[in-house]
Amino acid sequence: MSVMSKIAPRASEMEALKEVLFRPTGVDGVYARTGLYESVVEALAALISSHRPRDAEVLRFPPIMSRAQIERHGYLKSFPNLLGAVSCLCGDERHIRGVVGRFVEGGEPWTDALEAADLVLAPAACYPVYPLAAARGPVPAGGLTYDVAADCFRREPSTDIDRFQSFRMREYVRIGSEAQIQAFRQEWIERATGIADGLGLNYRVDLASDPFFGRGGQIVAQSQIEQALKFELLVPVRSADAPTACMSFNYHQDHFGTTWDLKTADDEVAHTGCVAFGMDRLAVAMFATHGTDIGSWPATVREALRL
Ligand code: 5GP
Ligand code: ZN
Repeated sequence: MSVMSKIAPRASEMEALKEVLFRPTGVDGVYARTGLYESVVEALAALISSHRPRDAEVLRFPPIMSRAQIERHGYLKSFPNLLGAVSCLCGDERHIRGVVGRFVEGGEPWTDALEAADLVLAPAACYPVYPLAAARGPVPAGGLTYDVAADCFRREPSTDIDRFQSFRMREYVRIGSEAQIQAFRQEWIERATGIADGLGLNYRVDLASDPFFGRGGQIVAQSQIEQALKFELLVPVRSADAPTACMSFNYHQDHFGTTWDLKTADDEVAHTGCVAFGMDRLAVAMFATHGTDIGSWPATVREALRL
């Protein structure tokens, strides 16, 4: 059997799945979500909440965040191609009416008159938390833990069922000493595999790297792997050869601590880490694994999700 003939049936299954779970909006990777799909996203969110660390502070962020903050984070050095920035028509009424009038009457692109606002679309849920934590003063000896979530945007148009331009991300974030972050990440890799077992998912946890931009980015990605800074929980959604990262376990070392002058109680630069749950990818993985009839999912899985 050729490779293509092995992959082709899976591709058509994925298309069929997409039709049941989503409705098109005219843009690749941007979908309306059905009630069936959302019921699983909500159940997954509740399951993850049931594992919330006891002392975690809950914050829910909007889908937009400060452009100045994302610039200071260094996001443009690493992923300039993925960032979406908000731009608007600025100026007085006469100017704006002129721009719109020339578009309506003469087809002149109104978008040429857009000006960058002080906002970008959040590319991950945890970015706004570090400056907030820094503003509180020194990190307490026990460290800080946050439960954050946001609708995230990454400019990666695709028709694949596991790559959206707009997707929901939930994260547990830890700020503290190197030892606290390493322990947190290890504990979460174990806890998350337990969650994936309970959900009846096939998975493996593997070292991973972020998609750093350009040729220089490959070197950064290599060093990220060598230093074991990122692990992912991978589920074979579209194929076993290219499994889908549904969760990631990240150790940022002192990167955000240095950027935001985050200090521990003994005046060391704080280290940070996060565990990220791709809510949309997890939900898609559930339907790809168990089918679209939730009533016929294994009883243990339905119990875990209270469905
Ligand atoms: P990371 O910051 O590790 O790239 O992303 C965290 C998590 O967000 C990933 O493990 C994944 O579950 C989810 N995620 C990242 N990119 C996409 C995407 O393009 N589409 C969807 N649906 N989820 C994504
Ligand atoms: Zn994060």
